[in-house]
Amino acid sequence: MKTKHSNNDPLLDKLGRKHDYLRISLTERCNLRCFYCMPEEGIQLRERSVFMTSKEVLDIVKVFVDLGVTKIRLTGGEPLIKKDVAYIIKELGKLPVELAITTNAVNVNQFIDTLKEAGVKSINVSLDSLIADKFNEISKRNHFDKIMSNIHLLLDHKFDVKINVVLIKGVNDNEIINFINWTKNTKINIRFIEFMPFDGNNWNWEKKVSYQEIIDKVNSEYSIEGYHKVQDTENDTSRNYQLKNSVGTFGIISSITNPFCDSCNRIRLTADGKIKNCLFSQEESDLLSAHRNQQDLTPLIRSAITSKHPERGGNIAFENFTEKDVKNRSMITIGG
Ligand code: SAM
Ligand code: SF4
Repeated sequence: MKTKHSNNDPLLDKLGRKHDYLRISLTERCNLRCFYCMPEEGIQLRERSVFMTSKEVLDIVKVFVDLGVTKIRLTGGEPLIKKDVAYIIKELGKLPVELAITTNAVNVNQFIDTLKEAGVKSINVSLDSLIADKFNEISKRNHFDKIMSNIHLLLDHKFDVKINVVLIKGVNDNEIINFINWTKNTKINIRFIEFMPFDGNNWNWEKKVSYQEIIDKVNSEYSIEGYHKVQDTENDTSRNYQLKNSVGTFGIISSITNPFCDSCNRIRLTADGKIKNCLFSQEESDLLSAHRNQQDLTPLIRSAITSKHPERGGNIAFENFTEKDVKNRSMITIGG
């Protein structure tokens, strides 16, 4: 007889949301220093032994796949700087999952064959400005030209490329139209992401650019040319649109002003092997230690999912949030 929590039961939380999408942070390190992600003072570098080895990543992932995970995204830090990342990608490619990656694309040219062999079709690239000097200032490094050339390389190799743009008032909100114009002749999906509060990123409500502000800009710029809503896929965090006669699309991810928690199917695994049931959750369960102690991970995973808050990790509203109210890791140590 089937037990109540047999391995084949889907990962459902109290609201009945099914969790089948695992985002794994492979490393807390990065070759860029985006100021909204990496705290000004950097992060404390910890001993290698606190992080999952590639074998541990694969062992832990297999438990999630047995529990019904069908999609995996590699993220970080910068996933493509992890030693052994090619091996991890290849091994994950053998599992019955859709495999995707979020990267800053600095090193992507070294992994084209690996990504193809593993069946990766969709690649999300972060790029917050189309102006070289501004991008390099945001990321505190000088890789703009390399990233642009790698984005074109990905497109040449027919990957489905999404560009993540974190919009910050007074920094890059004047580039919304330039980004959208890029979709006219290029088959990419631009995704404007609301700036979110994490440890050490000097967030405040005034710096976010809301869903409505973006739509107002789009309405005033394209009222004659026209644009339309595109059918969003299930569990899509982005509301997508397309200009008339364009080959690409653009979308808005508004976790702050229009959260998409109702349909959330995401689980996060940090580079040090902690499960986070929400980007904004303060609670974590230590899967890596349990794995090293040869414990069964299934009850820990199920209990982490069951205790998921209905919305935004239990943070009701962000309107009055300031830096001191942020009780979360910095984004670079979570994995976006
Ligand atoms: N290094 C890779 C990259 O940049 O694509 C993957 C890791 S990065 C943490 C993943 C995503 O999180 C990126 O698209 C980044 O723009 C986004 N992100 C980081 N900090 C953020 C913040 N404070 N608010 C919104 N998005 C953020
Ligand atoms: Fe690095 Fe990505 Fe964070 Fe930028 S957003 S610092 S590229 S992890």
